[in-house]
Amino acid sequence: MLIVHNPHHDDHQGRQEMFRGHLVPCHETASRLEIVLDALRAGGRSSFATPGEADMAVLRRVHSARYLDFLAGAWDEWVALAPSNAGLDVLPSVWPVRGFRADVVPDTFAARVGLYSFDCGTPLTAGTWSAARAGAACAIDAARAVATASGPRAAMALTRPPGHHAGPDFFGGYCFLNNAAIAAQVLLDAGARRVAVLDVDYHHGNGTQSIFYERADVFTLSVHGDPRTEYPFFLGHADETGQGAGAGFNLNLPLPVGTGFPAWLAAVETALGRLAAAGAEAMVVALGVDTFEGDPISSFRVASEDFLRLGRTLRGAGVPTVFTLEGGYAVEALGRNVANVLDGFEA
Ligand SMILES: [Zn+2]
Repeated sequence: MLIVHNPHHDDHQGRQEMFRGHLVPCHETASRLEIVLDALRAGGRSSFATPGEADMAVLRRVHSARYLDFLAGAWDEWVALAPSNAGLDVLPSVWPVRGFRADVVPDTFAARVGLYSFDCGTPLTAGTWSAARAGAACAIDAARAVATASGPRAAMALTRPPGHHAGPDFFGGYCFLNNAAIAAQVLLDAGARRVAVLDVDYHHGNGTQSIFYERADVFTLSVHGDPRTEYPFFLGHADETGQGAGAGFNLNLPLPVGTGFPAWLAAVETALGRLAAAGAEAMVVALGVDTFEGDPISSFRVASEDFLRLGRTLRGAGVPTVFTLEGGYAVEALGRNVANVLDGFEA
């Protein structure tokens, strides 16, 4: 399996996120990716690559032009407001909820930060754009590799920041560019007639769902904590099945707090059955391992060794596969958990 690593990921390191009235240190830290990389290297893997420049034409097929322009210029605008802002991160404080207009782009920077975001837990920093672009480049290169006839059957994009909460026109949930959606688009552009994105992160892949909700060429499937109690709260219910041309091509399998491995794996197997029935010719796995029993912000009960079984189960789909790295915040176990998925996939 080819591992494509983002060498610029640590350009992005948020200082603080808002949590229940406090600014607290970010759970999504740069050490996460280094720990995964160390674990994969220690496991004897030798096929590592770093990406080229992100192909902006691919990014524009997944995200809106106005959103990409905002991300590219946000930090400079922030510092232009006051030089002292260079020592702070950007966090939004006002959002266009129901009844407000999202079609008119405000001149004021603080209002545009709100227009293009959905939570106050995702700091935008000096290096966010460079890290996110390089992460997207990992997803592009990983997908292009598996789409090549002589290439590997599977590849892992070590994307950080993660991506699955980022929508066509917004960031949130620690995510800025939707790496899984970008990989899916590359697989389509390389000739696959239908691609599936299977999201096994603890949290619903709301951004991926939103990007493809009205499309039949990408089947989005997500197994996650029930949004009635779990982030991102406002999307991810079982009755969201796609719309228009995409009707029938979105599957949500929400599970209650405390779900153990057997029930969780059964839901993943259900998703894989639907994926096969839909004729998906390639698969992107949005691989969050915050389903781990020791995760500090999640509540499923999946043990480290269970991730080996997950990997074997995913291989059963029998199609070219790209993994993107999503959540997982029990940092000391993160490397082992990700390595176990990949080892199981290749066993
Ligand atoms: Zn997550």
